[in-house]
Amino acid sequence: MDSALIAETRSLLASARATLKELTEEGVEQFERRDDAAFDLQPRVAAPAKLECEPDLARPQQTRTTQTLEDVRLELGECTRCPLSEGRNRIVFGDGNPNAALMFIGEGPGREEDQRGLPFVGRAGELLTQMIERGLEIPRSEVYICNIVKCRPPNNRDPQSNEVATCKPFLDGQIDAVKPRTIVALGRPATSLLLGRDVAISKVRGSWHEYRGIPLMPTFHPAFLLRQYTDENRRAVWEDLKAALTRSRQ
Ligand code: URA
Repeated sequence: MDSALIAETRSLLASARATLKELTEEGVEQFERRDDAAFDLQPRVAAPAKLECEPDLARPQQTRTTQTLEDVRLELGECTRCPLSEGRNRIVFGDGNPNAALMFIGEGPGREEDQRGLPFVGRAGELLTQMIERGLEIPRSEVYICNIVKCRPPNNRDPQSNEVATCKPFLDGQIDAVKPRTIVALGRPATSLLLGRDVAISKVRGSWHEYRGIPLMPTFHPAFLLRQYTDENRRAVWEDLKAALTRSRQ
């Protein structure tokens, strides 16, 4: 064999060894023996179609762990995530049936709620309770009631966007836990949060929307109704609540 050929063979062997070393370092342990035709670019046998229901074994199976209301409450703890915690007496988490078909979401606790740790137990709450019990003719304990923020805003001001955003995961947790068939948003702040945009309540009330796949009916807040107790407003809220109850039963 001439020396040039020997040198070329050695160099080819060296480069093959180097390639093998690299592959070994990358974890390749063995190669499949293929005949020449196997280097066709087109696969000769189409890969079997993946069945829709075939579990993807490469990925860990996701277990859907929906939290219970107790879990959400535990996670909230003695919350100090936003400045509202500084002025509150009690966290007002929510009240009612943990499996309610109908859920009411208000704005935030007032003075009475902050004292008692329960939502809608002041004047606006009395009106809401009447609308539920006398109007819809169901016990208040059958529905679930909560607010977009769980601590009282100072002087009953509107909750600020950072406060609402901080509290939102807990509201979402409550919605996911209760799984209501229909949500009633009471007033502008709750409606704006759930619709994801700033709305005028008089424009959106009375029409169906959706939040997390759940039918959502915005209506006037009972505190507004107390201030503007007109036939027109009362009729509007009554229509909205009737529609919400009917939908929650479908
Ligand atoms: N107003 C609200 O929005 N929520 C309450 O709990 C009480 C009054």
